[in-house]
Amino acid sequence: MNDNLKIIQEYLNQILPEQALWEKELIAYAKDNHVPIIEPISMNFITNLIKLVKPKNILEVGTAIGYSALSMHHAYPEAKITTLERDPEMILKAKENIANYSLNNHINLISEDALISLPKLINQKETYDFIFIDAAKGQYKNFFEYAMKLQNNSGVILTDNVLFKGYVTGKLTDHKRFQKLGEKINTYNRWLMENEKYDTSIIPVGDGIAFSIKK
Ligand code: SAH
Ligand code: MG
Repeated sequence: MNDNLKIIQEYLNQILPEQALWEKELIAYAKDNHVPIIEPISMNFITNLIKLVKPKNILEVGTAIGYSALSMHHAYPEAKITTLERDPEMILKAKENIANYSLNNHINLISEDALISLPKLINQKETYDFIFIDAAKGQYKNFFEYAMKLQNNSGVILTDNVLFKGYVTGKLTDHKRFQKLGEKINTYNRWLMENEKYDTSIIPVGDGIAFSIKK
């Protein structure tokens, strides 16, 4: 990351209000175990958006240990959250965290590859007014296409990591795998910005969040 951007992100982190104990615990666990949870400054943007939108039904693609699901839940406990995860280790840890830290039984974890569970949810005619995509970066376009079908009229779709440490620009050449993923996300971003059905803004907070609303 470019130094200017880095000091700005550090600054945003410094002025973030202090987190609750459970959040600190999950963030520390993620750091120690290399779990790629969303950055707290991005989470702060999303939770404020949730407080504004007050979604009845939230869909999350990519639970990991449940940090973002629990953060959205605490922002608006009335929301019913469906969150999708395929990794058995993550599923175990997420279940434990959700049992420990949720305020009611409004978080439903579906333990299956999202490429299987998303079409099932479409068949069941489920709809959501807030969708958060934060899973395999190579699949973003597929996830978004499913999300479009799962969305009701007041919908918002967010996608995390759309700036991918700057590798989307094609100007960083020090890491082959990141360059390849960056290229994929760049293709996704351009497709999303041109999408006929959605208006999108990319917010450069944390690793970058695409904010898409139905036209
Ligand atoms: N949203 C979480 C972080 C998710 S990290 C948070 O911020 O707290 C991305 C997660 O997506 C990983 O745990 C990975 O196992 C999961 N994942 C990736 N591809 C997936 C897929 N196709 N279906 C379900 N989960 C997937
Ligand atoms: Mg992410």
